[in-house]
This record gives sequence, structure tokens and C-alpha cells, in this order.
Amino acid sequence: MNTQNPKLERIFEKPIKIFGKQLKIMRVILIFIASILYTGMLYVEINSTISLVFSMIFTIFLIMSIILMKKRILYLGKYNLECSVAGDVYLTQLQGICPKCKGFLKISKKDGVKIIQCQTQNDHIWNLEEKIDS
Ligand SMILES: [Zn+2]
Repeated sequence: MNTQNPKLERIFEKPIKIFGKQLKIMRVILIFIASILYTGMLYVEINSTISLVFSMIFTIFLIMSIILMKKRILYLGKYNLECSVAGDVYLTQLQGICPKCKGFLKISKKDGVKIIQCQTQNDHIWNLEEKIDS
């Protein structure tokens, strides 16, 4: 591990809009809660397995939305979802330069932990913590 921490910068930032309106995290959470209740009720009423499957999918989305709201960022590979203090949801892309070899950095997973890794040298790795310039 290096003492010189790499910096990640946003190279892409796009507000997520639905029907021209900025998507708010609280709205997303409420929609998922309503969807879970609706599909859950359908399952109880007509005993359909598909409603149960949808209910589970909505539950996963709800958990992801809550994580996004709490942590303000959700790493999804090439792109990330970020949530502003006001609750606005953005699609962003982060990029950084390796302080050791000037290679491009990427976010990857190692032993279930998110890390910053150099694309040129696989052993150039750092812990992923609050390294983003706001
Ligand atoms: Zn490197």
C-alpha cells in the first residue's frame, strides 16, 4: 500500500431526470416501498409466484436506494450513482491517475472490499474511502 493516495475526479456527471423532473432519492424509496406493498398484496391475494419475485426485486432496489442515500454513492462498475445532500440522484463517472506509474485508475473489488486499482499495474492498489473531490 502506498502512502500517497490517488485522487478520483468526476469526469462525467448527469442528473437523472424522469419526465423532465429531477429524480429525488426519497421519491425513489417511496416508489419502491409502494411497489413492495403492492406486489406483496398481490402475492397474498392471488398467490402468484411472479408477484413474489417482483416483490423481492423491489426489495433489493429499495436496499440499494437506502445505501445510496446513506453513503451518497453507489459503485456500479464503469458508472456510479451519486446522491446530493438535497437528495438529487446523479449518474457519474470517476477517473484518476495512478501516483506510481501515471496509469488510469479503476474501481474494482477484492475479497468483497471495494478498492482503487491501477489499470496498468495490478499491484498498484489503494483502499477506497472518501477519495473523491467534491
Ligand atoms: Zn500504477
